[in-house]
Amino acid sequence: MSAPAFAASSEPLTIIGGGLVGSLLALYLARRGHQVAIYERRPDPRYQEAAEGRSINLALSDRGWRALEGIGVQDDVRRVALPLYKRAMHSIDGQLTYQAYGRENQAIYSVSRDGLNRTLLDLAEAHPNITLHFNQRCLEVDLHQRQLTMRDTTTQQTHVLTYHRLFGTDGAFSAVRGAMQKTERFNYSQSYLEYGYKELQIVAGTAGKWQLDKEALHIWPRGQYMMIALPNLDGSFNCTLFFPYEGETSFAALQTPAQVQAFFERVFPDAVPLMPNLLPEFAQHPTSSLVTVRCYPWSYQGEVVLIGDASHAIVPFYGQGMNAGFEDCTVLDQLLTEFAGDWDTVFAEFQRRRKPDADAMADLAVYNFQEMRDRVADPRFLLQKKIESK
Ligand code: FAD
Repeated sequence: MSAPAFAASSEPLTIIGGGLVGSLLALYLARRGHQVAIYERRPDPRYQEAAEGRSINLALSDRGWRALEGIGVQDDVRRVALPLYKRAMHSIDGQLTYQAYGRENQAIYSVSRDGLNRTLLDLAEAHPNITLHFNQRCLEVDLHQRQLTMRDTTTQQTHVLTYHRLFGTDGAFSAVRGAMQKTERFNYSQSYLEYGYKELQIVAGTAGKWQLDKEALHIWPRGQYMMIALPNLDGSFNCTLFFPYEGETSFAALQTPAQVQAFFERVFPDAVPLMPNLLPEFAQHPTSSLVTVRCYPWSYQGEVVLIGDASHAIVPFYGQGMNAGFEDCTVLDQLLTEFAGDWDTVFAEFQRRRKPDADAMADLAVYNFQEMRDRVADPRFLLQKKIESK
């Protein structure tokens, strides 16, 4: 990791949430000399099987890479990332059409959420200024006393901690934000799409070979719904079906294995032969909701700040939620250099600069759902060569 010349500060900092943004933020803060304690409600993911044996992957793009470069961990991540140079659209009759993401060699990258989180936690653990506390759920934040009520999820015992300065990186349903919501003039909204998503898998071929082009983000656009697939390092693809909760064509309408099989064969005929576990996965994997969270302010009296999904959870269609959370870390770090020691100004400037970008990203993410499920299949938008599927 690079060793920039910051005036060391030993002020202890507390982070709630050791996910992607919390672990990256800890690295940024620790290198300034702060003692950083991360409290994460889940067990240490490095000693767990990935959730239900699945590998969930995310698209990492430029703003995310810049944040990783800022603390010199880009090479660790690049080793486990796959470049995606284009979209590959699968039509209902099996034709493939490609759209490049940019000029030659420009790409977004498919990375495993779990792998990325493990890498960042390894780096955090190796840092002498960072302590990691797993199985620690924050139940309540007392903003006046600067106290946290925590539950140890292994023993179910609760205890109280005092914080000096608090960073809420505890995701879309943030407990830290929950406390701020009860303060004067705090704006908050959440809105759900009428669509849910389910994760499924395209398995690896013989000898771990990818059965689809591994340099593409695959989309099966079907107008009112779609399926996408991103490659994993082991030759498989993680697929996500974005689908209405209710209606004629919906999760509610697919009740039996026969209905699921018939539906997939009709609308995703080229994918079905690559999905031998479709029926058990469809039955067992949860249907998850898609929420946009907006709030303001993001900070409280220069003592508490929300970062990442805790302040701006967006729907995943623009592939920018994590990237935006990583960019938060870059911007906060720049402000800490600019206004060294003046936390009030740092937090005030942080929310002022980031809020318009976060709002724009939230809007673009909803807009891009229409684009991906519908317009990418529209011939007017097909700018790239069209080829017959093999
Ligand atoms: P989280 O990842 O939610 O982490 C929060 C952490 O806090 C968790 O570890 C949680 O256990 C912990 N926590 C929560 N509450 C407490 C508590 N009370 N006490 C202690 N700990 C707590 N983004 C992209 O950039 N690219 C993509 O391709 C992409 N694809 C996505 C696909 C889907 C289907 C979804 C749902 C999201 C996608 N995103 C993507 C968004 C991305 O997952 C989030 O923006 C990102 O995970 C936010 O990171 P975070 O650390 O802020 O929050």
